[in-house]
Amino acid sequence: MSSMHTIELDCPQCRKKSPFTIHDSINVTLDPEDKEKVLDRSLFKFQCPHCGFESCVQYGSLYHDMTNKYMISVCGDEETAKNSPIPDIGDTIHGKKLSMLNDGYRFRTVVHFDGLAEKISIFDAELDDFAVEFVKAVILKQANELTRLYFTQIDESSIYFYAIFHDEEKNTGLSISRNVYDEAVKMLGEKSRKSKEQFITPVIAATLCVQGRTSEPER
Ligand SMILES: [Zn+2]
Repeated sequence: MSSMHTIELDCPQCRKKSPFTIHDSINVTLDPEDKEKVLDRSLFKFQCPHCGFESCVQYGSLYHDMTNKYMISVCGDEETAKNSPIPDIGDTIHGKKLSMLNDGYRFRTVVHFDGLAEKISIFDAELDDFAVEFVKAVILKQANELTRLYFTQIDESSIYFYAIFHDEEKNTGLSISRNVYDEAVKMLGEKSRKSKEQFITPVIAATLCVQGRTSEPER
């Protein structure tokens, strides 16, 4: 089941302390009501009882969906994510990882709770997240003014993203032809599915593909 603990948080605005709940792990099979709160980030929202200041607090956590067989390790920053070849899922579960992989489990590492919500949306839409990351990497390589893209939805003609710019005032939704995604799925191929699954961070796999490398990354 989900595990959590309470800390005293300093409000960045008024500097007063108030209690805040940290979710060390979130199990949406055992606590299904938590999924919506993850998607709208309300589970991670800090609201200062003294001055009303609100913000989403970023920290490391583990999201587990036993029904759809996936675990997502959330890192508080990109550096930690890049250096996390295996999600920190604890010794007991870690030992079981291989048998879980064979059972069709997916393990992923993402940065921030926005990355978590995006990954859940991709899996809910039954998309290949490696192909989605590939499409994002292609767009990001061509558009220097963008810093990040988050998948939002897909329909028969287009795939939609929310684009984060260096100048955040420019942040906006954008869409490109769905064909680009379909081509990426074909290119990455079902055959390589097993080898893809070793990439815990699909964004690294996608970046390597865009750079023209097909070999495994150095470990
Ligand atoms: Zn405050």
